[in-house]
Amino acid sequence: MANICVIGSSSMDLVVTSSRRPGAGETVLGESFKTVPGGKGANQAVAAARLGAEVVMIGRVGDDTFGTDILENFKANRVNTSNVKPVTHSESGTAHIILAEGDNSIVVVEAANREVTPAYVDEAAEAIRNADIVLIQQEIPEETVIHVSQLCAKYKTPLLLNPAPARAVPQEVIDNASYITPNEHEAEILFKGMKPAEALRQHPNKLFITEGSKGVRYYDGNEEVLVPTYKVEAVDTTGAGDTFNAAFAVALAEGKLIQDSVRFANRAASLSVTKFGAQGGMPTRDEVEESL
Ligand code: ATP
Repeated sequence: MANICVIGSSSMDLVVTSSRRPGAGETVLGESFKTVPGGKGANQAVAAARLGAEVVMIGRVGDDTFGTDILENFKANRVNTSNVKPVTHSESGTAHIILAEGDNSIVVVEAANREVTPAYVDEAAEAIRNADIVLIQQEIPEETVIHVSQLCAKYKTPLLLNPAPARAVPQEVIDNASYITPNEHEAEILFKGMKPAEALRQHPNKLFITEGSKGVRYYDGNEEVLVPTYKVEAVDTTGAGDTFNAAFAVALAEGKLIQDSVRFANRAASLSVTKFGAQGGMPTRDEVEESL
């Protein structure tokens, strides 16, 4: 069984649907409201656990009721929360989402996620040492991403960096990472001034650019490969990237070959877009294997 350590954000998404987005100083009546657990770190941890991995999450919640709900959701999904400690005098991370006029507007408040610091990660260093693979994203402070990359290099634990949301990354992190999985926009920010083909060629079997409904591109040492994803009726693509990353980490941790791991992750991610919600659409191991 794959042992995965996820280091990242956890939050509560507050989702409002409205026929119209309010302008400055305006109040409009909305149609519905719901709260759903989210955050890229939490989403990837839940997705990996659904795919059968043993998952240790390193993250933080606030000392509020959202924090309690976020922890319960982890437990319901079999994610180990011994390293998800509440921050006193802080709110949990939240995302305030308005779905209106066919598009979304989002305000993210990082709150407790800012406290996923290098010193906090050090308290959980054993989990990094013992993992088959560490999975990290960029909704936590940059110095933490740098520090984790150094710990992974020291312990020789493979590191999968999902550089989302887009942010430039020091060369040291790129060097320390075993796998890097930007979407096309994130790849542009990461390898500024470089054409995608050139960036891929410089990072054989390490850089995997996800291209939505087209699939995933990488350079295998000989040639550029596009692994097409599966054709599905897309209902909601939220969380496709999170499912892809979790599934890729699970497959790699299980020792699958790179191309097979990409295929497995494409299958999982394509299933996730057929249902609503980020975590709502994340498939189980059986669902992926039955449809491969
Ligand atoms: P998001 O931010 O929406 O979670 P992303 O921008 O990080 O996603 P994408 O490149 O859009 O990442 O998607 C990640 C992977 O999900 C793709 O490589 C593919 O495997 C799968 N995927 C996304 N959209 C579709 C789709 N419409 N049909 C099938 N597979 C999809």
